[in-house]
Amino acid sequence: MEVVQDVTSLLKELNELLAPYTPPRNTWNPADESLYKPLDLYRVPLEEAKDMQLKAIKYTFAHHYDNNDFYHKHCEMGNVRPDDIKTHDDLDKIPLIPHAEFRKQVKDVLGIPDTHCSDSYRMCEGNGLMVQCPEGHYLRAPYTYYEPLVPDDELMPMGYGIRGCFAFLYALAQSYPGFIKFEDRVQLLEHCPVCGRPGPVLEPDIQRVNGEEMRGCAEELRMILARDLAR
Ligand SMILES: [Zn+2]
Repeated sequence: MEVVQDVTSLLKELNELLAPYTPPRNTWNPADESLYKPLDLYRVPLEEAKDMQLKAIKYTFAHHYDNNDFYHKHCEMGNVRPDDIKTHDDLDKIPLIPHAEFRKQVKDVLGIPDTHCSDSYRMCEGNGLMVQCPEGHYLRAPYTYYEPLVPDDELMPMGYGIRGCFAFLYALAQSYPGFIKFEDRVQLLEHCPVCGRPGPVLEPDIQRVNGEEMRGCAEELRMILARDLAR
């Protein structure tokens, strides 16, 4: 019977292969250290990880406080400075930037109008990046090779204008069948009602189905790693 190597030796082997892509240890800042130092990122003892995380986030907070004029002012309004971050509980004091304010800064600082600040939507199961149109921020499908669908409980497409779970037929995948139904609730339209470009679009608001477990790309990867490494 084949002997299964333990996780530690597999990770050491992997890290040796990745070494050429890692910055030299003597150049690490606290944020680099929090990423590169642990042999296994998901098994660091909690107290050790919290200490590492505090140093890393405090370092990066100070960097933006010192170098970003907008964020510096934002912190002054909240009356918070990097010196105020002394314990892990102090991380709660770091001022958050509301999404609308972040977009406003993109416009004010970079000169990119809100219309051209587009979100995108895709699943790791298919390389079909859906990008918002500038006029209405509807999500446009790359419809030459990618057919978005909203199927019913029998997995039959319900057509346009009905809210339901997202699915797609994805033509570029050869290594797996890319014909998959997901848990995100969407509404599919035949074409964008604002810009009128051809091809189907999704309404910009996409919701999780109530009661469904959390299943983003990161969660999928975590589950695959947890399963495979536990063998
Ligand atoms: Zn549009």
